[in-house]
Amino acid sequence: MMHVDYLIVGDGYAGVFFAHQLIKNKKSFRLFSAGKRAASHISAGACNPVILSRFNKIWKHQELMNYLPIAFSEVSEYLGKNYLLDQPVVRVFHDEAERNTWLEKAHSDKLSHEISDKVLELHHVNNPYGGGKVIQSSRVDVLGFFKAFHQYLEEQGVMIKESFNYQLLDAQQKTYGEISFDKIVFAEGVKVKDNPYFGTAPVVPNKGHRLSISIDEILDPYIISKKHFLVKMSEEDVYYGGTNDKLGDGTEQVEQKSVDDLVGNLEDLYPHHYRVNQVLVAQRATVPDRRPIIGRHNSLHDFYIFNGLGARGALNGSFFSKMLYDFIENNGMIFPEADVQRFYLSNKML
Ligand SMILES: Cc1cc2nc3c(=O)[nH]c(=O)nc-3n(C[C@H](O)[C@H](O)[C@H](O)COP(=O)(O)OP(=O)(O)OC[C@H]3O[C@@H](n4cnc5c(N)ncnc54)[C@H](O)[C@@H]3O)c2cc1C
Repeated sequence: MMHVDYLIVGDGYAGVFFAHQLIKNKKSFRLFSAGKRAASHISAGACNPVILSRFNKIWKHQELMNYLPIAFSEVSEYLGKNYLLDQPVVRVFHDEAERNTWLEKAHSDKLSHEISDKVLELHHVNNPYGGGKVIQSSRVDVLGFFKAFHQYLEEQGVMIKESFNYQLLDAQQKTYGEISFDKIVFAEGVKVKDNPYFGTAPVVPNKGHRLSISIDEILDPYIISKKHFLVKMSEEDVYYGGTNDKLGDGTEQVEQKSVDDLVGNLEDLYPHHYRVNQVLVAQRATVPDRRPIIGRHNSLHDFYIFNGLGARGALNGSFFSKMLYDFIENNGMIFPEADVQRFYLSNKML
């Protein structure tokens, strides 16, 4: 029987960033990947400390933004490239009132470090009221990052390319088939509902559609944000999305009303010719109280959950992977607001 320090279930932002903590700390592990295209893999990769619908900072924004470049720089040591790009979010103002609110906030103590007070004029999209830059924001090269990370795990022989079968897990012996392990971290996104140990965690699927389009014009070099994000991901893939289909049909099928919504909003923003090559759909793992869910199982001491990253997989995934690792290995603390214990204590998870 082979022995490892950790098993990880899941290959999205949560799974790979936790794998990063293990690589950095020279722990042995195996990571299970079902090989499906999930929310992480179709995301825009925007790392944005500001909630653009309300012009507020996200929870723990400074801690998250401080750690983000550190995590990507550490990862670059073994992937050979830094996949965090200096590509900020620019908000295209809907009207004069929104622009005025932005400028007020940019001059107030609350957001003066996060958003710029200069009104930009974009050249390739409709922006009669101009746009404002989110100073600290950036973007992950999503396609490159996951391709390189997964390939690295495969080359190291630590990725198991199969769906983790909960029937094969012996929770008392801490074995999975022919592998024995010390600890297991479940990072399955919305598929956590199939997990016999954490399936009652209040993870709510939020379906998101995004278009993959081709354009002939050049695009302003930002994550252009109006109703949705418009951003060039690669020569072949310009991203437009993603929808927040809270009342989606619960499947991973494309829904025409979401596509119509995207196309309508894209045409309002982008006045040039484009071709839709593909519509991609996935489910974000959100939590009603908008905080991640990390921490230890109530009765199984070596079983952990890493989930609920919401709409901010890159920022939450990088930061909370370290918090979870330090909690497990170094007696660190977990923010009570993000600790799975909050649901055990309120009897919301039985
Ligand atoms: C359209 C869209 C746009 C987004 N844009 C952004 C953005 O710009 N910036 C940002 O930060 N976030 C964005 N997000 C949100 C972000 O993608 C999520 O927060 C993030 O993907 C959650 O990561 P995760 O690893 O928890 O879950 P997931 O991405 O769902 O990954 C979980 C993985 O675990 C695998 N898995 C599950 N069960 C098993 C099993 N039994 N065995 C093996 N593998 C298993 C799944 O196949 C999946 O690949 C976006 C999401 C969507 C849908």
